Amino acid sequence: MTLRICLYSDPVTLTSPPRLLLVHAHPDDESLWTGGTIARYSAHGVHVTVVTCTLGEEGEIIPAGLRELAADAADQLGGYRVGELRSACAALGVTAHRFLGGIGRWRDSGMVGVQANEHPRAFVRGSVDEQAAMLADVLREVRPQVVVTYDAFGGYGHPDHIRAHEITTAATAEVSDIDRVYYAVTSRDATEQGAAALAGMADLPFRLPRPGELPVTDDADITTTVDISDHLSAKLRALRAHSTQVSVWQDGAGGASYALSNGIAQPVVREEFYVLAKGTGAGAETDLFGGLG
Ligand SMILES: [Zn+2]
Repeated sequence: MTLRICLYSDPVTLTSPPRLLLVHAHPDDESLWTGGTIARYSAHGVHVTVVTCTLGEEGEIIPAGLRELAADAADQLGGYRVGELRSACAALGVTAHRFLGGIGRWRDSGMVGVQANEHPRAFVRGSVDEQAAMLADVLREVRPQVVVTYDAFGGYGHPDHIRAHEITTAATAEVSDIDRVYYAVTSRDATEQGAAALAGMADLPFRLPRPGELPVTDDADITTTVDISDHLSAKLRALRAHSTQVSVWQDGAGGASYALSNGIAQPVVREEFYVLAKGTGAGAETDLFGGLG
């Protein structure tokens, strides 16, 4: 009998152990935006660090039985979501997790123009320089070759996502030895095809998205497409872990969708998508580390 051990089934050619670091705004973003990617690289032996900037205290709560946790009631949602995040990280195989500045340092700012923006610990009220320095310290310690965050619009305009972009841009400019920075995005084509497929599913408990309702990026701008088809079950488990924020539906025949508190059906697609923001793109078409030597 021959025992074959395959640590890297991807063509990772780095001479030092590959390390991936992702900067996310709230607990659940790591799973929503990059869950399949995390699961895939982790399964292939890559050291994956997730940095979460806030506890997501201002999130809307889906299960009726948990609504008293809300910011305008007991204000215990942040602590509760730490547990959800821990379960999600376990499902995805995250090697290391950190909260920016330590757990509870920065608070979810809420959407644009709400009173939570003014909270003394609101992430967007803090100093960009201070937050970028906190992230730079983590980068110097973890020494990732590849860093992932959102685009300048924060993916969909949330102030905390935009701030995560800003501090990641500043911190990665300051720290050497980072080969690539990517923005996690959603593909227009994949989203439209996925939504069209959901339209044919009779038992879908969510409302279908209207044309243009879901935030997407034109496929011509996408530089890197990561196949997560072998890791969809891990991504779905991670999404289910965030049950205050995400409802997951599976039909038992391969159909799957999730919805946030707005109840709009989002497709679970077999790839995750990235735009290379910094570094050389040669070899990066299907692998965040592709071509790095
Ligand atoms: Zn978020």
